[in-house]
Amino acid sequence: MPAWVYRFGPDRTDGHAGLTEELGGKGANLAEMSRLGLPVPPGFTISTRVCRHFFANGEALPDGLESDVRDAVAAMGQATGAAFGDPKNPLLLAVRSGAAISMPGMMDTILNLGLNDETVAGLARASGDERFAYDSYRRFIEMYGDVVLGVDHGLFADLLDNFKNLNALASDTELTAAQWRDVIARYQDAIRSEIGRDFPQDTNEQLWGAINAVLRSWRNERADSYRRLHAISEDMGTAVTVQAMVFGNRGETSATGVAFTRNPATGANEIYGEYLPNAQGEDIVAGTRTPLRLTEKARAEMKAKEASLETVMPGAFAELKDIFARLEAHYRDMQDVEFTIQEGKVWMLQTRSGKRSAEAALKIAVDLVEEEIISRDEAVMMVEPQALSHLLHPRIEPGAAKDLIARGLPASPGAATGEIVLTSEEAEVMRAQGRHVILVRVETSAEDINGMSAAVGVLTQRGGLTSHAAVVARSMGLPCISGAGGIRIDLAQGTIRTASRTLKRGDTITIDGTTGEVLAGAVPMKQPELSADFATLIAWADTFRGLKVRANADTPRDTVQAKKLGAEGIGLCRTEHMFFDASRILAMREMICASDEKGRRAALAKILPMQRSDFAELFRIMDGAPVTIRLLDPPLHEFLPRHEAELAPIAEALGITLERLKTRVSELSEFNPMLGFRGCRLAIRYPEITEMQARAIFEAAIEAGKAMGHAVKPEIMIPLVAYRREFDILADVIRATAAKIEAETGQRLTYQIGTMIELPRAALRGRELSEGPGGAEFFSFGTNDLTQTTLGLSRDDAAPILANYAGKGIFERDPFVSIDEGGVGELIRIGIAGGRAGRAGLKIGICGEHGGDATSVAFFHELGLDYVSCSPFRVPIARLAAARAAITARRKGAS
Ligand code: PEP
Ligand code: MG
Repeated sequence: MPAWVYRFGPDRTDGHAGLTEELGGKGANLAEMSRLGLPVPPGFTISTRVCRHFFANGEALPDGLESDVRDAVAAMGQATGAAFGDPKNPLLLAVRSGAAISMPGMMDTILNLGLNDETVAGLARASGDERFAYDSYRRFIEMYGDVVLGVDHGLFADLLDNFKNLNALASDTELTAAQWRDVIARYQDAIRSEIGRDFPQDTNEQLWGAINAVLRSWRNERADSYRRLHAISEDMGTAVTVQAMVFGNRGETSATGVAFTRNPATGANEIYGEYLPNAQGEDIVAGTRTPLRLTEKARAEMKAKEASLETVMPGAFAELKDIFARLEAHYRDMQDVEFTIQEGKVWMLQTRSGKRSAEAALKIAVDLVEEEIISRDEAVMMVEPQALSHLLHPRIEPGAAKDLIARGLPASPGAATGEIVLTSEEAEVMRAQGRHVILVRVETSAEDINGMSAAVGVLTQRGGLTSHAAVVARSMGLPCISGAGGIRIDLAQGTIRTASRTLKRGDTITIDGTTGEVLAGAVPMKQPELSADFATLIAWADTFRGLKVRANADTPRDTVQAKKLGAEGIGLCRTEHMFFDASRILAMREMICASDEKGRRAALAKILPMQRSDFAELFRIMDGAPVTIRLLDPPLHEFLPRHEAELAPIAEALGITLERLKTRVSELSEFNPMLGFRGCRLAIRYPEITEMQARAIFEAAIEAGKAMGHAVKPEIMIPLVAYRREFDILADVIRATAAKIEAETGQRLTYQIGTMIELPRAALRGRELSEGPGGAEFFSFGTNDLTQTTLGLSRDDAAPILANYAGKGIFERDPFVSIDEGGVGELIRIGIAGGRAGRAGLKIGICGEHGGDATSVAFFHELGLDYVSCSPFRVPIARLAAARAAITARRKGAS
């Protein structure tokens, strides 16, 4: 039977880094650091199994836990030379939560546990520092009162503020031991009147109260919503780590700090972080005192007056530097650590892999390979594909006119323009309306996660570079400015004020998270140049992947972009999208609204040269790489004219009255256009459309082929097919057109005709579609429609339904974003098997939005597709995701 309790310390360590599920990230890594011989205060971790037992049994603790904890606490006493509850030399404890997946700030922590009216006097004597002892006691009462006894933290803050005002004290550091004693008496009175009993003096009662509270915090509201957002299972449970306290508040040779072993914003190989002399860890987080820089370089860059740790405590700094290098080499990654220096001695309290910006992720991965710490496949596995999208975000055009209204800290790089919102709720509501918003807050907390993910950028008045806003925004790849002290937020008025300006909710601002500038209005943006590290990592990724990556591109502009980002072909050219342009839509509408073949042919004759020149250009840009052109698939409601102003020119071009045209439009109107007269259904009724498109494609192929000096082999794709006969009718039109053009030009054409698989029937009948000499020569899964038709959930009407479903455990992720593996995925699997049974080695791709979603790409790799096709800016994401899928599969195979 596995143990409930895992000890760590100089004499015995039961856990290790591989046990994160059991011990949580914090507990597992404390054990690992102990094993490495690093200075870690001794302690033990209660397994996450206890948490699961706790919730499965009406919040009861398992048998045997109590004695295990008692023994482990006794062992800590031996290791430290103090004893828990001993009035002469009390051992004090820190009790912390820690799940397998980091959930920063979501659950509770209690420090200085073991103090009571007696032991505090013992601590004062043993440490020779009375003030420190009573300061620690009042901190313990505040935390325990809040977390365990449920007394509002604000009550303690108010009592302390009143006391300071009464005694004309400006800061906490000015209070004497006697004054703290006075404050403690007031705290204890307040607790008695709030909860009707005394603050517990029994240290064992304190310990079990804290353990129970930390376990319970796994299911508090903050933690619940964080888990939902990050798709973390509730079954995981939290571990509880109990550790001997070390004190950063023992005078000027003591300090507490947080650090990243490299710069998490840029990835530079330099120590990055903050410390506070004579303080405990929560003082950094609380923001009551401004933390100082660790290195001289950072201090100079920030033009800060206060000395850096490097100069104040050079010995401790050198030791930390050495520890950081050992941690990086051991964990093969950049670390995010917490430490305390007690009277000159360094203690490590936490290490974990550090969150970083996308830019930093690339640089760190590439540098670690160059420093021979990790291998190339490890580097590829280190960068989350989704993070790359951040680097593909626009930045402010150099030289653009800027209306600077405030300045803050450059907390997360990239620029964004949006409307001001002041609460998370507003952000979510406006995002649902398709608006871009910048969330402006005094500071952010766990409650703001949903608002942050709905925003295009975040601006806070308070908070440093390791504040919640900064850390979370970086990990989300969201531009963020923190600590813009020059702005004042007035929630009641719905305004933000600076020295010279007042802006309202809904006003547009631009934030530049790379420089920290807050600008009024929108500013011209520039597409980013991709860094050398980006190119290096993606090139490494390409050596591992099997899946090809193509792009969905409809215009020459998209195609150029796609090629730049590494697309190996075009997987989908939506030919109807070539007509969104105002100068072209008239011809398209004429064609749709024409009531007879003559009218339609006249409109098609106008469209032909436009399509031909676009296709020729796409072929030239792709220079021999495959190009898949899909026959017209216009959901009619997207193209039908609606207003008088749109109707008149069409009536004129068609030579019919306005009334006649209106009748025609109403004839064409559908109740459910997404399942209506679309795709191949349109061309089966009006084959002249396919005739024109095939002609445009073939003539363009000949033209481009001549210009490039090599033949173009277009792939022509028929949309929304359910039956083989639909495919055959249109394939015959295409072949007949090709034969005609060959006869006209004397040129030989090579091409392939394939089909999209967008309807469940098509997926189920894959073999029928591909078999025989006239069958489909390639398949491309249109997972947007296949999702809509499999789930019976209209693409156009899904949003409110999905919003209502969110958090109810129905969908793990939005099925239009990340493929529904069990349903749609199963149809794809069946479609692949059928298609390849009908035609050996059939080329199969996917061109729905899922082609650029990293999780879906991994699934497509498993299914054995040949390629994915996605929007140009997602091409690098798909390349990296495909490589990671291949590496993961290889590792699985090897193990
Ligand atoms: C699809 O349905 O997945 C697809 C790519 O086609 P469209 O989005 O144009 O319907
Ligand atoms: Mg489709």
